[in-house]
Amino acid sequence: MPSPALIYMDNHATTRTDPRVVEAMLPYFSEEYGNAGSVSHHFGDVARTAVEVATASLAFNIGADPQEIVFTSGATESNNLAIRGVADRNQRRGRHLVSVRTEHRAVLGPLERLGPRDFDVTLLGVEQQHSLDGKASPRAGWLDPEKIAEAIREDTFLVSVMLANNEIGVIQPIAEIAAVCRHRGVLLHCDATQAVGKIPVNVRDLGIDLMSFSAHKIYGPKGIGALFVRQGNPVVRFTPQITGGGQQEGRRSGTLNVPGIVGFAKALELCEAEMPTEQARLAELRNRLFAGFQQNLRGVELCGPDLSSAADHPLRLPGNLNVAFGDVDGEALLLEMENLAVSSGATCSSHEPGPSHVLLALGMSEDLARSSLRFGLGRFNTAAEGDAAVETVSTAVKKLRKMG
Ligand code: PMP
Repeated sequence: MPSPALIYMDNHATTRTDPRVVEAMLPYFSEEYGNAGSVSHHFGDVARTAVEVATASLAFNIGADPQEIVFTSGATESNNLAIRGVADRNQRRGRHLVSVRTEHRAVLGPLERLGPRDFDVTLLGVEQQHSLDGKASPRAGWLDPEKIAEAIREDTFLVSVMLANNEIGVIQPIAEIAAVCRHRGVLLHCDATQAVGKIPVNVRDLGIDLMSFSAHKIYGPKGIGALFVRQGNPVVRFTPQITGGGQQEGRRSGTLNVPGIVGFAKALELCEAEMPTEQARLAELRNRLFAGFQQNLRGVELCGPDLSSAADHPLRLPGNLNVAFGDVDGEALLLEMENLAVSSGATCSSHEPGPSHVLLALGMSEDLARSSLRFGLGRFNTAAEGDAAVETVSTAVKKLRKMG
């Protein structure tokens, strides 16, 4: 018997590179293969021009200037460059940083490395999954900007808050947080890896000083990302973390990934052009999935914020759904559903043993966190796949509950 078609719903982990992106990249492998740093011949000129055009496009699409873009290998490196780079350079102001318990490991990791170096890190809590009366909170996972204001001290030099969460899709009030930081003279870094290309992101409107983002989350290639570093007053100072040939004004050395940069820019252009229709389509598909689970199964709980928040001020990424099924183990569920690619709150990544730190930060019990699945819906998911996923999950949950 042929196995049922595979359904990919793990678009927060990574996305399929859009064929239109691949097409834009192709000439820069075997035809226009010059080094953008070669100033003495045609090959270098062509590569440099491609990088300039792509950089201008990327910058435009996030409301930045081209000189404010530093290319990296991805958002992990961008976060490291922002946090470690600013920490290495801004010690005169103090040694205190503020961030949030629900940040991605790519932010928490560099912060942890600062601890033993005599930096002091405050990690803030977020709105809990359940209010005191046991009801699910419509803003679960949300960070109150007031908390930032309370946490900033005389010696605070950096605040790092993500724009959209990779597990529960919650969108943080970055403009309000940025206003607090600016008022107190503290730099704001934002990990916008899950937000760019999915919701409107304009660094000037938001008031961000440094922002990380990555191509492979937006139907671009893996291995290319960027850090936006605001120019102008007050100056954002940071120490480069990768030194060598002095590329990118010494801010990040290494030969530029020309095909990657071209693909990154094309990927963001496509996301921007398709955003209004895609946001509505994904939110509808996502809501249909959740309604299907509720109809077929008892004890289904939405993890994270409401699905129904106002379209002009959404609290959650349109393609994100995180559901606790209760009385089942997410890992066992994954094994039961061979044709469905999603991820489980039991292990938020294969590198992190135990239940997801994000779900635990919401105050969820380990058992409830372990019973959750994360659905990351994306460009290539269809309504038919949504219906098939509801069937697959419902059948698997029922089977495991019977066995349990
Ligand atoms: N930050 C967030 C919020 C992410 O979701 C991810 C990817 N899971 C990263 C950072 C790391 O991005 P990259 O894979 O480009 O290093």
